[in-house]
Amino acid sequence: MDINKIREDYPILQRQIEGRPLIYLDNAATSQTPRPVVEAIEQMYYRYKANVHRGVHTLSQEATDMVELTREKVRAFINAGSIQEVIFTRGTTEGINLVASSFGQMLESGDEIIVTVMEHHSNIVPWQLIGQRKRVTLRVVPINERGEVDMQSYEDLFSDNTRFVAVAHVSNVLGSINPVKRMIEIAHSHGVPVLVDGAQAAPHVQVDVQQLDCDFYAFSSHKMYGPAGVGILYGKRYWLEQMPPYQGGGEMIGQVSFERTTFAELPFKFEAGTPDFVDIAAFGAAIDYIQSLGIDNIAAHERELLNAAVDGLMSIEGMRLFGTSLNKSGVVSFLVNDISSYDMGLLLDKLGIAVRTGHHCAQPLMARYGVTGMVRASFAVYNTLDEVAAFVAATRRVADMLR
Ligand SMILES: *Cc1c(COP(=O)(O)O)cnc(C)c1O
Repeated sequence: MDINKIREDYPILQRQIEGRPLIYLDNAATSQTPRPVVEAIEQMYYRYKANVHRGVHTLSQEATDMVELTREKVRAFINAGSIQEVIFTRGTTEGINLVASSFGQMLESGDEIIVTVMEHHSNIVPWQLIGQRKRVTLRVVPINERGEVDMQSYEDLFSDNTRFVAVAHVSNVLGSINPVKRMIEIAHSHGVPVLVDGAQAAPHVQVDVQQLDCDFYAFSSHKMYGPAGVGILYGKRYWLEQMPPYQGGGEMIGQVSFERTTFAELPFKFEAGTPDFVDIAAFGAAIDYIQSLGIDNIAAHERELLNAAVDGLMSIEGMRLFGTSLNKSGVVSFLVNDISSYDMGLLLDKLGIAVRTGHHCAQPLMARYGVTGMVRASFAVYNTLDEVAAFVAATRRVADMLR
């Protein structure tokens, strides 16, 4: 891959911050968007804008085709068995809320849900909300010092009351790539379905939902070079057919009368209201973009950046890295001495470097490590080894300054 050529597709990377070139290392929060995706949005507004699935007129049919074409691209991207199992949402958060509230209606008092301590708040709070309504308890899988799931504890948490498992494929803080295939096997041996939070996996690792055999898989377009406002929920037909609708409205119905309403076929049963058809169409361009580069090439490049960052950071006195799993994606979280993540982030910004600070929507994980926040650098395909070197040098400079 020619990274300099790739960078030309991102005008934002030409920006200066505080008179220095922007070094964007907050990709786990959201990635930047390349020209072909932005152009797809423009095309939708300039040529194709019409409401989908309803019109007989040409524009409406074309817009519908674009949305359904993206559905097929997503199906192929994650190797789902059918487009009926691919539901458009607003993002990972909405996908998880959909499952928690819909599947959750089938739960009963005394049931248990297993999550890990490294989950994003999006994969904790929806389960707590349904848990409070249904008197369902959350059981939490611990991790070891390296930031890996403690598999023995995981197995031991299963009981006759376990009804569901929700786990991140890749941690947004530690970068750990969790052994979800094995975790799913274990859950299934207890007859328990599994939702995988794939927000940090879909942009970086090959996802094959049939090979994983997961029951649900949720992810967001905006973290994978696509527009904001679009997400995907994959669900096995077996479950989606049993689950009640999440929201009611247009698109999701068969027949409506005041006596009785029937629901549309999958996947439309779970897509109430007008979808974000503009951004869904553009998300198709983002998938094409990833496919054209090759997800394995992207992962290999990010791995190189990660190794360089870890090597460089480790040479800084007082450095503490969080998440040292061997099987790790391009995320590095750290603290230096007792410098707050906020101060570090602020001073790095003065040097043009965008990193994330704070609790990263994972307060239970912060508590696990006995900290209130961390600094996080996360990589994407357009980042370079020079940027990583500049980031390490800047971190060293700030550390020396505040020592
Ligand atoms: C970002 C993220 C989410 C939430 O995604 P949204 O796009 O904000 O809905 C959930 N889980 C993980 C692991 C994330 O990184």
